[in-house]
Amino acid sequence: MNTALTSSIAEKIRSLSLLLMLIAAAVVSVWAVLAVPGPVVDKMLEADIRKQAELWQRRVTLHMVNAEEAFEEGIIQPQDAALLTLFTEETDVYRYRLLTSAGEIFWSSRSDEIGEFEANVFFSTQVSRGEIYYSSRTVPAFEIDESPLSDSYDEGITREVARIYVPLMHNGHFDGAIDFHTDITDLRNTFIQLARLSVALLTGVALLAMAIAVYVIFKSNRFRMNQLRQRSKTEREILDEQLRLAREVQLLGELNEWLQSSRSLDELFDMVARFMTHILPTAEGSVYVYSNSRDVLDGCASWNGGTHKDHIHPEECWGLRRGRTYEFGASEIDFVCEHAEPHDGRAYYCFPILAHGETVGLMHLRALSDATEEFTQSKKLAQMCAEQISMAIANVRMRDQLHDQSVRDPLTGLFNRRHMTETLRKSINASQKSGIPLSLIAVDVDHFKKFNDNHGHDAGDMVLRAVGSVLEQACDGEEVACRPGGEEFTLILPGASQQDVMTKAELLRQAVEAIVVRYGEKALPGISISLGVAHYPQHGTMPQDLLRAADEALYEAKAKGRNQVCVASGPEQHPRDPSVQKDCQKRSGPDAPIAAE
Ligand code: GH3
Ligand code: MG
Ligand code: MG
Repeated sequence: MNTALTSSIAEKIRSLSLLLMLIAAAVVSVWAVLAVPGPVVDKMLEADIRKQAELWQRRVTLHMVNAEEAFEEGIIQPQDAALLTLFTEETDVYRYRLLTSAGEIFWSSRSDEIGEFEANVFFSTQVSRGEIYYSSRTVPAFEIDESPLSDSYDEGITREVARIYVPLMHNGHFDGAIDFHTDITDLRNTFIQLARLSVALLTGVALLAMAIAVYVIFKSNRFRMNQLRQRSKTEREILDEQLRLAREVQLLGELNEWLQSSRSLDELFDMVARFMTHILPTAEGSVYVYSNSRDVLDGCASWNGGTHKDHIHPEECWGLRRGRTYEFGASEIDFVCEHAEPHDGRAYYCFPILAHGETVGLMHLRALSDATEEFTQSKKLAQMCAEQISMAIANVRMRDQLHDQSVRDPLTGLFNRRHMTETLRKSINASQKSGIPLSLIAVDVDHFKKFNDNHGHDAGDMVLRAVGSVLEQACDGEEVACRPGGEEFTLILPGASQQDVMTKAELLRQAVEAIVVRYGEKALPGISISLGVAHYPQHGTMPQDLLRAADEALYEAKAKGRNQVCVASGPEQHPRDPSVQKDCQKRSGPDAPIAAE
């Protein structure tokens, strides 16, 4: 059971107990209102009657001629008797009796009692010792003297009466007592009503205060509970977020590690496709990279159900056109990128891929049909992935550039001597194993020194670039054009027959002859090349032997007047031996070095 549920149950129990307490208090209050006033009122009444009785006693004795003597002797003077008779009319006392210290009733408002003796024990035990004796009881109404009901004898009609014996003490000596009877019914009822009203008011106020307290506690409990719930929800969300971030960081780290170890863009895009499916399972995607010409982007990879086109134009993408991430579905008015057509309204992102500040490609991510919400939440992650991919592309590109710089000649872009030797070695090995033919063509520009001298080094460079371009364009498949140095070039041609190689050499010669290089305002004079051909294994089985054989054939072409193709002689023949007849394809036209003109 989770903390929130436990707290919720505890809060409900607390609230319920408070409510029960309130109900219990209300019940107790009702009981207090109904039951408690009787005894309380009786106590209050007793105290009141006791005070009254002392006043009554003083009033009786003060009006008597000689009260002390009257009590002592138990005799009433006639003038006292007249006054005593009036007493019941002036006070609430309906009956009273005067008793001597021996308990003899020597005067009573009911004359038939005169002469009787008080038989109650309390007279001798309490009253004769100076203590007031008080008692109250319910009596039939007819027992009350002077009452309008005193003649009805109806037992059912009752009244509450109090009886109080007030002792008369003189210098510590008990002279006698007066026994007063008073009807307390109305007073008692009034007291009870007042007491009930007070108790009701008090308990009402108490209940109200309690109810307010319960309400406040209940509210504060609820508030605390809501706070707790909110806090636990927030904590859970933070925890989920942290877990998600940790997973993303881990995946990004792994992606980065793998991407950094990729050796080529193809391998890199393969990794991207696999990782992106895993990192962003709610998105299908594709990657495009600018072609070398930079006029189009080539589709390189797609994943998770996504597709990529062979080529797209940069203008077809709002992300590339605006140079920042384009988010379709984020604002009220959106335009669909042309490359994203056909489009079914799903949200998508276009992240331009940047490497060293230059846009090198585009990553396109589209929400899977039922996961738009998750997709939009993962924008930041997608952005980070695009950044990782950008960095990886930049790395691979830089590595490619460094590699190119180490194997290519900067002037013509052809492979350098190191790469030529390496490629030749590999080609010989391959030919040795597979038996496929392998040939080599050594090329040298005719009279290039004079060309340089006549037209300048820069013009010479332009010619070298033009020749290099012709040679490179002539290479297909595994064929490789190299510039080992100066105005010398080499072609490694695996897989072509000797006849085809000879034809290719002649075509090259013609193509170079046809080159027109413009330098500034003017067209430079035409140039020519001489070519020497050597075949593996006929003219050598080691790279240096084959190169030397091609070179020797080239010298032969030079010697025979340049602008022609010569094939190497067999390995047993010495190339410089004039007796050896060489097989050369001579150019048509005069044997004059064009470049030197
Ligand atoms: P041949 O027909 O016998 O080959 O005569 P050539 O003048 O072409 O041969 P030579 O070896 O005497 O001269 C080669 C010249 O190529 C010398 C050098 O100035 C020039 N050269 C070498 N490398 C470069 C380069 O990178 N740029 C330019 N412009 N000239 C170069
Ligand atoms: Mg040379
Ligand atoms: Mg030359």
